Amino acid sequence: MVWTKSPIRPTNPMVLNFVLFFYYLFEGIVLFFIPDSFREKKDVTGKNVLITGGGSGIGQLMALKLAKLGARVIVWDINEDGLEMTKQLFTANKMEQQLHCYQIDIGKRETIYQLAELVRKQVGPIDILINNAGIVTGRALLETPDECIEQSLRINTLSHFYMVKAFLPEMIKRSSGHIVTIASIAGNLSGCNLADYHASKFANVGFDLALRMELAQIQLDSKIKTTIVKPFFINTGMFAGARSRMLPFLEPDHVAERIVDGIRSEQSEIILPWFFWFFFAILVTVPSKCLIPLADAFGVFTMMTQFRGRRNISTNMKTSNNNNNGKLNNE
Ligand code: NAD
Repeated sequence: MVWTKSPIRPTNPMVLNFVLFFYYLFEGIVLFFIPDSFREKKDVTGKNVLITGGGSGIGQLMALKLAKLGARVIVWDINEDGLEMTKQLFTANKMEQQLHCYQIDIGKRETIYQLAELVRKQVGPIDILINNAGIVTGRALLETPDECIEQSLRINTLSHFYMVKAFLPEMIKRSSGHIVTIASIAGNLSGCNLADYHASKFANVGFDLALRMELAQIQLDSKIKTTIVKPFFINTGMFAGARSRMLPFLEPDHVAERIVDGIRSEQSEIILPWFFWFFFAILVTVPSKCLIPLADAFGVFTMMTQFRGRRNISTNMKTSNNNNNGKLNNE
């Protein structure tokens, strides 16, 4: 889609900016104490929701939940078996008409732009974009092959730039839309054997914030919403073998439910569990040396020593890169 630059809105008077600062602060404090179930939620019936990585884990669960709420779901995934599984789940729930599956390697920029164009023609404009697909290498920095570092950043981070560039112009034109970034607790805190993963997730957090600023540059209370999601470990298999001394892994269904609720109530940030907010606050206030004994106490240094993860991801990638790049799965 050809993009013509939006005009920048004039700066507000200083007093108004201060009033707004305290208003939003008060609103944030009040909303913090209001449970999701009491918040007003937007209707997603008939909306087009695109989810990357919807062939597995929380992406698949979110797809199903959003379809149950009446949304039309477009799933992009590299894994053919995962897409097949998503189709079977939708068929079992008699919702196959609401699903459009596409096989794609989102690590490839041109493929993203081409498929975005095709989806626009075949399904229509996207109302909600959920950048969810992700991978993890799980090795110490010096043992991580360069290709794995580059692949992590391409899939977990760079793809978000291209996805947003592909779909945001139409959202701005329609003055409506929602961009969801699935980051992680690992986007604020850091552990061992995860340098590429942490770098990619910290980048997600920065990207979401920068995007929010650019949307506010056009319109103060932008009609295009953004949500950043920061969950702790989830029991999907992505972090199989990792150990947590702090807390049990989260259940995928609970995480997917909370994200869908958060999107519908247009929350700008979802932290799961919520009390990690306090860890984030400590992190920015104490000297960085203090973090070492804290990390030791919470088992951060041994957390990834038994990590297995999804060993088959690289195999899937090879299959897709060689044979099925950008192939459509259900057309
Ligand atoms: P998952 O492995 O179950 O799902 C990830 C999906 O992304 C898979 O279907 C995979 O095929 C797809 N994918 C991978 N590479 C791709 C590529 N190149 N192109 C297209 N699709 C590709 O993982 P999950 O646990 O559901 O994680 C989903 C998101 O949540 C990820 O961004 C992850 O970083 C984040 N997250 C996960 C955890 C956790 O503990 N599992 C914790 C915090 C955040």
